[in-house]
Amino acid sequence: MNTERLKDLRSEVDRINRELLGLLSARAMVVSEIGQLQSELQLHLYDPGREADMLAYLAAENPGPFSSETICHLFKEIFKASLDLKERQTAARCLYSRHAKPQDTKVVAGPVTFGTAPLLIAGPCSIESAEQITDTARFLSSRGVRVLRGGAYKPRTSPYGFQGLGEPALRIGRAAADAHLMAFVTEVVDTRDVAVVAESAHMLQVGARNAQNFALLREVGRTLRPVLLKRGLAQTVEEWLNAAEYILAQGNDQVVLCERGIRTFERWTRSTLDLSAAVLAKHATHLPVVVDVSHAAGRRDLLAPLARAALAAGVDGVMVEVHPNPRVALSDAEQQLDFAEFDSFLEAIRTFLPDAAPAR
Ligand code: PEP
Ligand code: MN
Repeated sequence: MNTERLKDLRSEVDRINRELLGLLSARAMVVSEIGQLQSELQLHLYDPGREADMLAYLAAENPGPFSSETICHLFKEIFKASLDLKERQTAARCLYSRHAKPQDTKVVAGPVTFGTAPLLIAGPCSIESAEQITDTARFLSSRGVRVLRGGAYKPRTSPYGFQGLGEPALRIGRAAADAHLMAFVTEVVDTRDVAVVAESAHMLQVGARNAQNFALLREVGRTLRPVLLKRGLAQTVEEWLNAAEYILAQGNDQVVLCERGIRTFERWTRSTLDLSAAVLAKHATHLPVVVDVSHAAGRRDLLAPLARAALAAGVDGVMVEVHPNPRVALSDAEQQLDFAEFDSFLEAIRTFLPDAAPAR
């Protein structure tokens, strides 16, 4: 008799569970529509006031036997799941999202394409003279490097630091790259310079300090040039991807993401290389992702192991600073590799680079 009753009660619970499930799904559909409207109206997805009102109402209406505390606890879980749903749906609608575009994007910068085989981006921190950049391009090209970097406009921490040679450096940088069929990537720091930098560069770099300069992001988004977007010094992955969204939303889908280390409490490295962010960016987006080991480490002795780790993790390229004579470099002297050091670096990562020139 009691066993029959137990069976009946359990069927009753199963029926209520089904009803609850139906109600939860119906609630989720409504929440999802609210999320869509909130995005369109540019409102926050999370509204703490509304959540507090709902909890107060539920506690007041609670018929028992659960305590109001338990009811609030249960509903808070529902609210959390609903917010997660809204956030996931909003992110999925973003142009950077792999949900929106499952295939990997290839980014074409002059003679090279990012997103096929891993690429090395190498060159001095700053372009200091025609001879310096020409020698570096010749050397790097002889080692199979196809992307030349070099700053013409430098975003220096101190206004009294070397600020770059400006326009002349753009011209000599591009000429050095052209002489060896390399792509030339260089940083643009000011919206007013975007057009002039875009004339010489195959690819525009937006640096860590400008990673949330939304006017600059929009401006580079309006050019037809591909963009190398560094992660900001203290940017979350979400903020970094939203910075990319600013560029993509202008109609420029040629964006390469560059993890370059973030600021942490650690002092023995210049920044902390966040490899998980690079891998996350590969998962969450369809954009190529590269890792700048030089600005992450800020010291020569860690570059090869960090580059190996990044390439083993599946990134699309590595950036490294190379200078004919780093000891007299006008910026980042401590982290740039000379030519012999670059050869050892290349040796250490060669297995990951199908295009590198044969070992000497
Ligand atoms: C650079 O690449 O020259 C540079 C300044 O890097 P970051 O913006 O990552 O500091
Ligand atoms: Mn530098």
